[in-house]
Amino acid sequence: MNGEVHTHLEKSIRPYIDLIDTLRSVGIQKDLALPTIAVIGDQSSGKSSVLEALSGVALPRGSGIVTRCPLELRLKKVPGVKWKAILTYNKKDTSVNSSGPIKASKLGSGKAAQLSHNEEKFEFADPSLVEKHVAEAQDELAGRGVGISDELITLEIMSPDVCDLTLIDLPGIARVPVEGQPEDIGKQIKRLIMKYIKKCETVNLVVVPCNTDIATTEALQMAQEVDPEGIRTIAILTKPDLIDKGTEKNILKIVNNEVIPLRKGYIMVKCRGQQQINDEIPLEEAAQMERDFFQNHDYFRCLLEENKATIKCLAVKLTQDLVEHIKKSLPQLNEQIKKQLWTVKRELKVCEDGPPDDLEGAKEFLIKTLNRFNEQIKSLLSGEQMAEKTMFAQLRAEFKKWNDRLNSTKTSFNNAKELSEKNRGRELLGFSNYRLFEKILQDHVAKLKDPAIDLLNAIKDIVIKQFTDVVSECFRNYHVLQNTVKDKINNIQLTQLEKAEERISEQFEMENRIYTQDPIFLKILSEITSKSFSEKELPVLDKQCSYRQMLEAYYEIVVQRMADQLPLMVTFYMLQETAQLLSTNVMKLLEKPDVHELLSENSDVSRRRKDLRARLKRMTAAEAAISNFFND
Ligand code: GDP
Ligand code: MG
Repeated sequence: MNGEVHTHLEKSIRPYIDLIDTLRSVGIQKDLALPTIAVIGDQSSGKSSVLEALSGVALPRGSGIVTRCPLELRLKKVPGVKWKAILTYNKKDTSVNSSGPIKASKLGSGKAAQLSHNEEKFEFADPSLVEKHVAEAQDELAGRGVGISDELITLEIMSPDVCDLTLIDLPGIARVPVEGQPEDIGKQIKRLIMKYIKKCETVNLVVVPCNTDIATTEALQMAQEVDPEGIRTIAILTKPDLIDKGTEKNILKIVNNEVIPLRKGYIMVKCRGQQQINDEIPLEEAAQMERDFFQNHDYFRCLLEENKATIKCLAVKLTQDLVEHIKKSLPQLNEQIKKQLWTVKRELKVCEDGPPDDLEGAKEFLIKTLNRFNEQIKSLLSGEQMAEKTMFAQLRAEFKKWNDRLNSTKTSFNNAKELSEKNRGRELLGFSNYRLFEKILQDHVAKLKDPAIDLLNAIKDIVIKQFTDVVSECFRNYHVLQNTVKDKINNIQLTQLEKAEERISEQFEMENRIYTQDPIFLKILSEITSKSFSEKELPVLDKQCSYRQMLEAYYEIVVQRMADQLPLMVTFYMLQETAQLLSTNVMKLLEKPDVHELLSENSDVSRRRKDLRARLKRMTAAEAAISNFFND
């Protein structure tokens, strides 16, 4: 690379790459997608060889799946330093719940699980150690053997001889599982690859060997699937020295974007072959050999001039692409971080204030929590709640049903005559029989008892639902408290239900006595007969043929009485009294000795709080990094 040009380039690019590296260091990629270059390709397509040539470092190689975790390669050109590398990864989280069982032994590492910070970090100055450290990290994350893992390993390399670039190496696409691999390994790998390449923040670097049917490679197809217009896909054609003689022209067509057009185009590279590796040909020499190869190639020579060949050309292009990509994504990224920061803060508020650890503090917290609950119940009773359908709307609907039901039982008593025949006593024909009148009414009113109990139950259900909703909301994070109070509600409602049932039975017993105030009876009777009666005139109705109207009039009075009486009664027992009892009962919880037990939190809440706090930390750091970037 021309030193002058590159130094100039460096000044304008390094800050961008650094910014993204910083964001990734704080773990922000867990929350949103960062501009990235992801390297994908079939197994043995030459991914590692390309990365190796770019980084100047031997990466783990071999047959089968060698890359088993995403490996982030951060290449930093630092003039005048000795080669240095830092490898980091997050050990499996063994400390989610400090009281839970820690499966440290399962890791087989012998190291104790670190509680808060479980990042592993290795610094080394010997390039030949890269392979070993990466392999060990993979063993730790994906298990020894052949499995894969989504956990990211980061390898930062500082050297005067590398380009400024960060890219992520992904496991190669495998088709047939080898011994010891799960059947669906191919699927697992593809899922992992998809996770990276489907994000529009990722530039997909697709490695395809020249000596295969390029257009049908799986990697290229996957890239096409997620990026149909080829906007963010670059293809690298490897192994040009191994092509079938005679296919050169077809390959040139592909490189010239005539077959599968990619906006970012194709680059052909020649890396060290197995023989050259065995012969330990150094990378610089290999680079020279690559140049010679192209210069001496009858067909591919032209690619040199068009900047479509060699690793060096690839390095410059990738760096430019990445920076361009970062520049483009930055405003959006900034926006997203701000937005998420806001959401996290808000969500944290909801589960932030857990109970203090000391007894006094916890007690105070409990008092506050219970008071808030009682306030909520109060506002529920006052109908102030802002729910979609207030409790009273639901109650009223039930009361209306009850009223309709009552009205539907009104009848014209036209079987009165028949009944009087059946029940006629010893009286002579034509004499009135009050007992009979009474009996007809008693029977008819008694039929209302079942519907009355139905009403009671319906109201009970509504009230329980409303109260438990308040419980769930007020004590959302405290399952013990929640269950305790829910139990209380159920118990209170059960007793209240019994009381109300008794009261309703009494009411019906009372209704056995046929009674109403004379003026009321007169008034309704007048309405029904459309005549106005005075007390003195009333006896004209005391004939069997007029009983019908008297029955109707009295029943009308019963209906009116019951229409109000029952709702009043039911509301009194099931709502008012229940609420009162609940409030005092709930306060009695303060006498319980084990406040902490009562306030034990749902495990998912403490976990969530932990997650949110970690996110908040990441977001805050990210925001700071971006604002520093813009202010510098
Ligand atoms: P990966 O599985 O995609 O990482 O592929 P590797 O980088 O391990 O390459 C697979 C094999 O192809 C290795 O033996 C490499 O030496 C060889 N190879 C890679 N690139 C070239 C190339 O340009 N020419 C030749 N002849 N061999 C190559
Ligand atoms: Mg490889």
